[in-house]
Amino acid sequence: MTTDYPSHIAGARTAVPGAGDRSDNVNPATGAVLGTIHHATTADVDAAVAAAQAAQPAWAALTGAARGRILKRTADILRRDTAALARLEVLDTGKPISEALAVDVSSAADCLEFFGGLAAAVQGEHIPLGSSAFAYTRREPLGVCAGIGAWNYPLQIAAWKAAPALAMGNAMIFKPSDMTPATALALAEAFAEAGLPAGLYSVVQGDGRIGAALATHPDIAKVSVTGSVPTGHKVMAGAAETLKHVTMELGGKSALIVFEDADLENAVAAALMANFYTQGEVCTNGTRVFVAEALHDRFLARLVERTAKLVVGDPLDPATHVGALISAAHMDKVLGFIETGTREGAELAIGGKRRTDGALAAGNFVEPTVFARCRDGMTIVGEEIFGPVLSLLTFREEAEVVARANATPFGLAAGLMTRDLARAHRVAAALEAGVVWVNDYNLTPIEMPFGGVKRSGIGRENGLAALDAYSERKSVYVSLGDVDCPYPT
Ligand code: NDP
Repeated sequence: MTTDYPSHIAGARTAVPGAGDRSDNVNPATGAVLGTIHHATTADVDAAVAAAQAAQPAWAALTGAARGRILKRTADILRRDTAALARLEVLDTGKPISEALAVDVSSAADCLEFFGGLAAAVQGEHIPLGSSAFAYTRREPLGVCAGIGAWNYPLQIAAWKAAPALAMGNAMIFKPSDMTPATALALAEAFAEAGLPAGLYSVVQGDGRIGAALATHPDIAKVSVTGSVPTGHKVMAGAAETLKHVTMELGGKSALIVFEDADLENAVAAALMANFYTQGEVCTNGTRVFVAEALHDRFLARLVERTAKLVVGDPLDPATHVGALISAAHMDKVLGFIETGTREGAELAIGGKRRTDGALAAGNFVEPTVFARCRDGMTIVGEEIFGPVLSLLTFREEAEVVARANATPFGLAAGLMTRDLARAHRVAAALEAGVVWVNDYNLTPIEMPFGGVKRSGIGRENGLAALDAYSERKSVYVSLGDVDCPYPT
């Protein structure tokens, strides 16, 4: 049985079939068609904007506590439905069910809880201006906001954009990737069940054309996109037409630096987490692993030993560690990078092949792959692969490795493993990255601001910072005396 994935506008699923294009939603692990995505039209986008405009003023006029209650109720619904939501996420993305259960659903729920709690804590400032005047600031919502999501963490991305927007009194129109339509829709239904008034969170299905319609829409005040750098350029150019606020969560080629004094087991564990989680399809992945020369041989041996134990398999099997890549085209791209790595002289230490044994032949499975003896100029070291491919490099000096880690147009994340406290903070400060992990990797608690520098992005999601990204400060000057006017009376 297949499913329909329509848009969800003004509190209800749109008619099936709609007037827009249709495309198949394909299970990356089996190649089976899960259902039909009914793309929105620009008229649907206009309808979503109109519904948002109608609902947003009353939503913004509620107390923060009232808005927050609905967000927290939505979090409870997500937690109640964890098993079903995790399954939907696995069918769409190909990621292991163990991850979807432990991370994807709970991080979306954490986000709704966090911003649900913060909604009542939003305050302005009082600015004293002597005895005859003062000013204050009001935190005001932007109005109608748009979110555009990538396919690797569909539910989490939808929540990371919708929750702070709604907490601040905005409406959110979200476009999921056209490869992962299901859970943004499920989130719309959870919001409706929690009592969110119609129009405040709509989902428009479709491809980049619908994304572009949101980015350029004259009545949308802000667009937040999670995607690749080229898409970020296009969205920002489109948003410039109407001078929208933008948040850009884009790609990366992050460095994980393992100093000589690091705990070897933890360093290897961090490298595994930094490369093979979600079969390598994580924007922050530390795909350039720089290991101190003195530690290299022991590190590589243990890394290969532990990588060999990773189970590549059916994403719905709880024992699976590495699932299927999102599409056949993406798998071919990843395999192409692996071929280039070998051709350019990197040493393939483990992995490197597509898995086609048994049922895996129907899906997009690639072995976790480690390339040793990489050099800075290699293609696999410079470009974002977005698959399970780790490049191992060596270094001698701290200053040298920091310079090499920073020698990239990206600046999303970085990690460092050391027991030296002073070095940890010195290097964290020197790395050009929006997020730095010390003695760990790839943790994104909702309390911590998240986002990149350089080409990896603009602005921050999560943490208190996200509320700024969905609000304006209005300054109100209040005079307590006469108008000081130099003109003749
Ligand atoms: P894409 O850039 O291909 O797509 C991202 C979203 O933008 C999709 O919904 C896509 O629609 C849409 N889109 C495409 N073209 C346009 C356009 N011209 N105008 C408006 N919207 C458009 O990224 P992927 O989905 O392939 O995701 C992988 C990328 O995302 C990687 O580079 C990764 O690093 C990055 N990423 C960044 C994260 C971060 O937080 N920094 C987190 C996760 C991923 P559709 O695909 O449906 O056509």
